[in-house]
Amino acid sequence: MTRIAFIGLGNMGGGMAARLVGAGHEVTAFDLSAAALERAEARGCTPAASARDAVAGAEAVITMLPAGPHVRAVYAADVLGVAPAGALLIDGSTIDVESARHVAGEAAAAGYVFADAPVSGGTAGAEAGTLAFMVGCDEAAFARIEALLAPMARAVLRAGDHGAGQAAKICNNMLLGISMIGACEAFALAERLGLEADRFFDIASKSSGQCWSLTSYSPWPGLVETAPSNRDYEGGFAVAMMLKDLKLAQAAAAASGASTPLGGQAEALYALWERQGNGGRDFSSMLQFLRGET
Ligand code: NAD
Repeated sequence: MTRIAFIGLGNMGGGMAARLVGAGHEVTAFDLSAAALERAEARGCTPAASARDAVAGAEAVITMLPAGPHVRAVYAADVLGVAPAGALLIDGSTIDVESARHVAGEAAAAGYVFADAPVSGGTAGAEAGTLAFMVGCDEAAFARIEALLAPMARAVLRAGDHGAGQAAKICNNMLLGISMIGACEAFALAERLGLEADRFFDIASKSSGQCWSLTSYSPWPGLVETAPSNRDYEGGFAVAMMLKDLKLAQAAAAASGASTPLGGQAEALYALWERQGNGGRDFSSMLQFLRGET
């Protein structure tokens, strides 16, 4: 049993904190949203009056916050110097590499072990404890981090040193965003050419066009049972979230000098679709955009 402070109990953090409670840990939780905190309490967490209150006395701190500025602010004001010496600090949010490295540096200067550990697997993975964690940390600290994350994970993978977890996450999601547009374009073209969607799906699934966006998450309804396309693109991974990750990727590309022209095109397309009021729909709804549906 570990005393864990969990900060940020939204769509992801709520389910993750509940998994830790289920594994027998003592979880003290805080969120700016009273409703989120109440939901966490109903799932076995002890609510705290502030982030500082949650962190004081914790053996480990996990943050699951919207973006880089939130993470920087919470660590500076409420975690560093407040958590007991020796506490393990893990940020599971998806944020920019620079913010992750900044917080890691500040944490090291204050004598803490820190890891950036963004996740893949969405809200369903958070609830089921089947997330993939991409971890940036000192090699010597990894075993301890892996053990703490295990109740929430199907895989905990060390990507490298501080910031490498975030780098892996944005590279993966840039690839995903691009490949989904490719799958949508292929279905849209097949339709214009009079090729049945299910025939194209069967053939491409066994040919060199095969990819996760096609065979595990088909944007065309009726082909993959669990895909959000079967639920009118509700739930799943929102266009706005994909856009956030593509913006992080483009910012990282600009800062590092990498050429990512398809990532840039993907960002522009998801941004257009979002501006048409589709930010909350699953990102595979890009098929509707390309078919001219609004
Ligand atoms: P969310 O908006 O549902 O939850 C974030 C929570 O943080 C909110 O409840 C908010 O009130 C709280 N918060 C904000 N500032 C705070 C502060 N200063 N102190 C305490 N609480 C604060 O977002 P989410 O969907 O849970 O995503 C969290 C992170 O996980 C994001 O970085 C996101 O990119 C990443 N992520 C999300 C998904 C997904 O499918 N939702 C998948 C993978 C990664």
